[in-house]
Amino acid sequence: MSLSDNDAISFAERVLSLLDQGSFSSSYKYAVLLGIMDVVMERSSKSGVPPTTLTTWQLAEKVLELYWPQSIGFQINKSCNDILKQNTGNQVAIINLIVDFRKRSELGAAAPLFSVKTKYKSEYQRLVEEVEWKLIEMPLPKLQRIGSQYREFIYHISWDDSVSRSTVRKWHKNQSGDFNNQIMLADFVGEYLVRLNSLLRPLIQKEWSAMVAQINKLEESKLENFLFSASRAGAAKLCEPLRELQENRCFYCHQYIGNSGKLKPEVDHFIPWARYPNDSLANYVVSHSICNANKKDYLAGNAHVENWVKRISGNNSYLSDLDFIAKQNNWYLGETEMKGVVSTIYQHTLPEVELWKLGKEFELIDKPYLSELFSIM
Ligand SMILES: [Zn+2]
Repeated sequence: MSLSDNDAISFAERVLSLLDQGSFSSSYKYAVLLGIMDVVMERSSKSGVPPTTLTTWQLAEKVLELYWPQSIGFQINKSCNDILKQNTGNQVAIINLIVDFRKRSELGAAAPLFSVKTKYKSEYQRLVEEVEWKLIEMPLPKLQRIGSQYREFIYHISWDDSVSRSTVRKWHKNQSGDFNNQIMLADFVGEYLVRLNSLLRPLIQKEWSAMVAQINKLEESKLENFLFSASRAGAAKLCEPLRELQENRCFYCHQYIGNSGKLKPEVDHFIPWARYPNDSLANYVVSHSICNANKKDYLAGNAHVENWVKRISGNNSYLSDLDFIAKQNNWYLGETEMKGVVSTIYQHTLPEVELWKLGKEFELIDKPYLSELFSIM
């Protein structure tokens, strides 16, 4: 078998019909699909080869990341601030788990998940275990059912919805019994997901927002931002240390950064948030506000990738400085995942896609050059 564009398109069509008609009254189907995409992106090899299996634990961590910022109050109107419902019946169980967890640990609404991960290690592990169980029990065995048809076109798992919690616990204890935690992707699905990432991701997010809007009788336009936007407020504190690390020069044009107007500093997501939502320090650079505005949601050009790779790889002082900044600010460095994401995204970018160079200038991707760079990363 070989991979053709037609195969990718028919896969995308099946995913869309699943979004449309899947037998789900909650947002789980979106969370599971995005979660699988996230794991695949982050765990692809340096040469951009996606994994063929993932574990329920890896998926649970990603699904938790998705629901974490959504499980805080949303300002519905002047007098009402409430957690949005994401199911036509009872609230989604994973949201309840997060709300309880926040209460128990007395966490503020703004606490990012990665700070919890390091600060409350064992509590975090227990939370992931609960989320994992919820996924095993319900969405995973049901997701690929459309009407009366069940087709394993995305993944294969070894259990069905009759699985018991004790079986799963037993497996976790001694890795034996009727359950195993592997989610085996169907042929080429990893490849499809990374290739279709920039198309499927915004579509799934849009459908997710529309569903939440409908359940809560709210306007959709207000919701997408709340559900999926980057936590810019938190990242502001990273601007000054990053600026210092870059010797007060813009990451993109290398000119000095000023303090006001178009030349003032801004923290930029190197891989645009719209293409891959990642808040780790490894994905942040500081640029002029004007350069940031020109870059928009484009992928940065070849030379910028080279500079990013230099900054993030090996035992150079940049990396240890970044690590220091992360620790000082209680932030997550995340360089391993980002390496996977950057190489996967660039190696699966179509040759005719234009990359942003500077100002209004664009260039074509230089794949051999970038592959070489990624191989030494
Ligand atoms: Zn600049």
